[in-house]
Amino acid sequence: DVRITNLVKRFGETTVLEGVDAAIADGEFFTLLGPSGCGKSTTLNCVAGLERPSGGTISVGGTVFVGDGVFLQPEERNLGMVFQSYALWPHKTIAENLALPLKLRKIGRSERDRRIAEALAKVDLGHLAGRYPHQLSGGQQQRVALARALVYSPSVLLLDEPLSNLDAKLREQARAWLKRLQADLGITTVYVTHDQEEALALSDRIAVMSEGRMTQVGTPVEIYETPAAAEVAAFVGRCN
Ligand code: ATP
Ligand code: MG
Repeated sequence: DVRITNLVKRFGETTVLEGVDAAIADGEFFTLLGPSGCGKSTTLNCVAGLERPSGGTISVGGTVFVGDGVFLQPEERNLGMVFQSYALWPHKTIAENLALPLKLRKIGRSERDRRIAEALAKVDLGHLAGRYPHQLSGGQQQRVALARALVYSPSVLLLDEPLSNLDAKLREQARAWLKRLQADLGITTVYVTHDQEEALALSDRIAVMSEGRMTQVGTPVEIYETPAAAEVAAFVGRCN
């Protein structure tokens, strides 16, 4: 599980997260939904270790990542992350792109090859291992980015608007495919989006964020049918 308690983040004088709490169960698909600037990426980056929180605690599977004087480095956290831009290495093949995080973890050649083949098979791209990123479609590149996040068997997957570079049709396909993969792997996933439809379609639970707080947490049905506040209703597209 992922436990976030009273997470606060300030940039200089500005408080961007004002005490965020979340308890995310093993295997859950949990989405942070909210308008631009509400603090979704900052929350995810604090979990990933890319930002240092100003206060609060974060633990995953009982291991304290942040809190009680502890701050684990990103590479000590065993998390897979996909950013909005997939950031594949343009001059390296797909297989070489996947090899990098394994080399960083000092995993030997034969074990690397085995894991790369396995991760690419998960995203149905085994046949493209020798290609370069520019020889792939946007949707395929997005799947490579996912495979790279999965290649060292992380305990939690952090996805920050991974579908936003795709056109509407590809996004629709990618959604269905992502949901299936996540369910098959049973991997705990924290997903960030400002797209209401995407959140409602994918999530086990949604946290609606507004100005550095979680305004409401619930299942898609709960959020849609009984929005807790006018701002939630407005954001999920209901006019009560
Ligand atoms: P979007 O949907 O546009 O990606 P978001 O919900 O992910 O938005 P964040 O990136 O978490 O929003 O940013 C929250 C607030 O924190 C914004 O007002 C942003 O300008 C500010 N912020 C983020 N990173 C920094 C930084 N390194 N220094 C100063 N302010 C920052
Ligand atoms: Mg963001």
